[in-house]
Amino acid sequence: ARVNNRATESAKPKVAVASNYPQKEPPVQPPTRVYEPPSTDRRDGAVYHVGNMLGKGGFAVCYEGQLPGHKKKYALKIVRSKMPYKMEQKFQTELQIHSKMRHPNIVQFLRAFSFDSCTYLVLELCPNGSLMDMVKRRQGLTEPEVRFYSIQIAGAIKFMHAKGIIHRDLKMGNIFLDRYMNAKIGDFGLAALLVTGKDMQTIRRTTLCGTPNYIAPEILEKGRKGHDHMVDIWSLGIIINRDYEWPTPGKKYVSEEAKDIVATMLEDAERRPDPDTIVQHRFFSSGYVPTPSDITTRLRDCPPN
Ligand code: ADP
Repeated sequence: ARVNNRATESAKPKVAVASNYPQKEPPVQPPTRVYEPPSTDRRDGAVYHVGNMLGKGGFAVCYEGQLPGHKKKYALKIVRSKMPYKMEQKFQTELQIHSKMRHPNIVQFLRAFSFDSCTYLVLELCPNGSLMDMVKRRQGLTEPEVRFYSIQIAGAIKFMHAKGIIHRDLKMGNIFLDRYMNAKIGDFGLAALLVTGKDMQTIRRTTLCGTPNYIAPEILEKGRKGHDHMVDIWSLGIIINRDYEWPTPGKKYVSEEAKDIVATMLEDAERRPDPDTIVQHRFFSSGYVPTPSDITTRLRDCPPN
């Protein structure tokens, strides 16, 4: 397969995607106050004040939400309760899988409720957009920054896979940035729960899914029975395989170590490294790995060059 490593998530898909891929829907216009009905753990229910719009996806719209008297803000992901069947399925999958995930590099799912013909997901707020927005704004990342984010994302993939979850739609637009610029994987709408034996022997999934430029080739190959968790490693390879610039204006350079680690992730599924093997690659010892506070200072507090 020819790998397109550019920031082209918004580009026209080159392959047909399954009908369960979300269709464009008009955005939901939420009321300024949203009532969470009483539940066993919140007997009096709650009222969220709805703030700024954070963004729109294929079928959801996200707003800031805040409980009165509290400083903390959340992301309210809103979808209409009555959706076409396929979209409803996507959303149910997202809810069931995302609610079971708890990891520092996965957007924290807090609760879900219905109000006024809409379903609301209350999520950890990631106020600094997605990795895609950041990479576009900065026109790339340095290798130290790539090391930092790869370690975080590999950790989240290890956690998901250990729980039998494959995300299947890992891409820069689905990796959000928290207030300190840490990576948080979100949007579990295409995730799948593998029915596993001890060693992740799976009932292979045959659905065609994922965002075209990040889809592992075995998903596209006709005649194969399906794919497994290694599709997420392929996507991580594509995420890392980016142009970036050193401070010298206009000079682009990719180290041999970086090329090699990406190449291993784009091997045939059975030869791809697992997350532990990825972070032991010499790419991570051949140069500097920034600390979290370096990243906050450099990426959040410093405007791009
Ligand atoms: P969809 O499932 O419809 O693709 P997304 O999960 O991608 O929807 O969310 C749509 C948009 O909302 C995102 O592109 C992003 O701009 C914003 N968003 C989603 N989750 C969060 C979050 N936790 N914090 C901040 N913004 C978010």
